[in-house]
Amino acid sequence: MSEPSPGIYEFDMLQPRFCEMLISEVENFEKWIRETDFEIVRPNSMNNYGAVLDDFGMEGTLDTLMKDFVRHISKVYFADVGGFDLDSHHGFVVEYGVDRDVDLGFHTDDSEVTLNVCLGKQFTGGDLFFRGMRCEDHVNGQIYPEEVFDFSHTVGRAIVHRGRHRHGASATTSGHRINLILWCRSSVYRELKEHKNDFLEFCGECKRENERKACALHGSKPQGKKGVLASEGGAAAS
Ligand SMILES: [Zn+2]
Repeated sequence: MSEPSPGIYEFDMLQPRFCEMLISEVENFEKWIRETDFEIVRPNSMNNYGAVLDDFGMEGTLDTLMKDFVRHISKVYFADVGGFDLDSHHGFVVEYGVDRDVDLGFHTDDSEVTLNVCLGKQFTGGDLFFRGMRCEDHVNGQIYPEEVFDFSHTVGRAIVHRGRHRHGASATTSGHRINLILWCRSSVYRELKEHKNDFLEFCGECKRENERKACALHGSKPQGKKGVLASEGGAAAS
């Protein structure tokens, strides 16, 4: 496992054969939906292509994946946002391509920890771009140079990050890109967060505010670099 940028971990996770089998199951489900004229529930408010895996028999498998796999990673790397207490999930696949969703705008996930695995198929483009972790209050704030990270996915490779890590997907320019996404949540963390007024340690802006306060107390100058506004500086997927 490596950490190419703070708070982002990547590693090889799934065998190509498994990725193919999962894609074929998704395609099978979509075909059945079309034939039976059912209304498909799309994975989230942003993706128009893809399917919720929990809806066709994978809920138990994904729950086990969260409990026996993601939680152990989270315990070590994401102790501040639930750690080992992840206790529910939302599992889905998203599909990108010129005849599907092309890209995905800058956003955060409704999760404490997100696992994102590339299943296939062949594609060009489709990089994920990350722009720093933020709390709810600072989600539209500046981007600092050290927070800029772009990631090219390859089949079977996984990336894990906090749900509050701002990110998006740039245009898939050819082919068909399919990713498995597992949003993992912690009811304990969400409950605690309601009653806690401390600053959030992962938030790049809270951290800076805290440094500024500490500097004001000690009469020194803050060290932070100048950033650009999220709304103007390369954040929007186009
Ligand atoms: Zn903040």
